[in-house]
Amino acid sequence: MIKIQKVSKYINLSEEGLVPRIECPMDQGLLFCNQDIEENVYLYCLSCEYKKFIGIEFYSAILKVLEPLEK
Ligand SMILES: [Zn+2]
Repeated sequence: MIKIQKVSKYINLSEEGLVPRIECPMDQGLLFCNQDIEENVYLYCLSCEYKKFIGIEFYSAILKVLEPLEK
């Protein structure tokens, strides 16, 4: 199960420069996360229409980066 809290935490850390930023592939804008009513977590861009649901593979990569920082 993909948790928005983890994705949101990753984005916050990236704003502090502690982890690599996830940028919009269209215009390199900042991405934010949200979830739909079925709790599918997605990233969206503030400056364009870009929106992408997070898959388990991408989520695992985020967890791997967060793990050492959460100790
Ligand atoms: Zn964009």
